[in-house]
Amino acid sequence: MTSWRSASATHVGLVREANEDALFTSDALVIVADGMGGHAAGEVASSVAIATFCEHLGSDTSLVGLADGLRHANERILADAAAHPDRQGMGTTLTSVALVPFGKGRAVAWANIGDSRLYLVRDDVAQQITEDHSVAEEWVRQGRISKEEAAVHPRRHQLTRVLGIDPFVEGDTGLLPVEVGDRLVLCSDGLSNEVSDSQMATIVTQASSLNEACSELVSAALDAGGRDNITVVVVEIESVDVVVPPTSVAKTTSESTLMRRPRRTFHVPRHLTWRSTAFAGAVIALAAGVFVVFGWFAQSGYYLADVDGKVAIYQGHSGGFLWYQPKQVLMTDFKVSEMRPGDRSQIKEHLVEPSLSAAIRHVANMHEQWRMTQPVTTTTLP
Ligand code: MN
Repeated sequence: MTSWRSASATHVGLVREANEDALFTSDALVIVADGMGGHAAGEVASSVAIATFCEHLGSDTSLVGLADGLRHANERILADAAAHPDRQGMGTTLTSVALVPFGKGRAVAWANIGDSRLYLVRDDVAQQITEDHSVAEEWVRQGRISKEEAAVHPRRHQLTRVLGIDPFVEGDTGLLPVEVGDRLVLCSDGLSNEVSDSQMATIVTQASSLNEACSELVSAALDAGGRDNITVVVVEIESVDVVVPPTSVAKTTSESTLMRRPRRTFHVPRHLTWRSTAFAGAVIALAAGVFVVFGWFAQSGYYLADVDGKVAIYQGHSGGFLWYQPKQVLMTDFKVSEMRPGDRSQIKEHLVEPSLSAAIRHVANMHEQWRMTQPVTTTTLP
């Protein structure tokens, strides 16, 4: 039977006052979550996510169960935030590995949303399995900036997908082919921002025990500055009973469902010769291609706008593009007057975000920044 053993460590770091990260380990499920939202809300988000995810995986341990677990956790956090106004805007990342039935044995499956990471450490190399859901990394995948530019980009920490913000969000899931002796590292960005992949590989490979690997990874992150909460789980594969083909990796994304491509049908008159039909076909195919590309481009961004003093989110390009007009997809409750002056002008200038969830998150962040500049009001009880 495929099996693993694991060790874990978490540390508040050197700068933050509270540890909003959370983790869970068992002999078939490992989870790391990095909560955000300030006050106690970040801790609530990460622990609610882990509790809901565990509960769901208990009744459905499968690849589909992982994706459903993310959806359930998302719903539970949104419901909790709706019931507690002081927790509004809270969210969490979640990265998990689980042993799921596969063929006649069990395989390692993973799930991810946000920018916590799963690495496979083999032959002294740490390979990142998950993709970060950050603005900078989404732009790398769209070919807009290079991997090197992303590493220092100011928006590399701004998440495009996270649990607890967008009701329709989905994570990525997949199966990971493993060998006996492989070590897996699950960590929050408090580790991956401070420790390079090669440093991680060296520490994990040379450590004499999993506990030592965890404590040395945390020490390395603290030595590098410890600017965030640090959480790490190191898993070692002890036995493997099924062969998982490398092509069986499945990923789900919801961003593509937001981009609706226009569909058109063309009718070719019957009396045309094959030559002119072929030519007309080529022209039509080209025109249709241009149409699809323009349609995609016209609807590819989400921008902010001031509508009657509140922040609205539009899909499309401000002012329209060709015959495509932008459409309002969300009216938020955030007042433009409750933003800092610089942010107010960003809204007036229609700041563009790559996804709806990134736009919502940006608005919430701007409001939070403004709120922190406001004097604290104390209520005196009679
Ligand atoms: Mn973090």
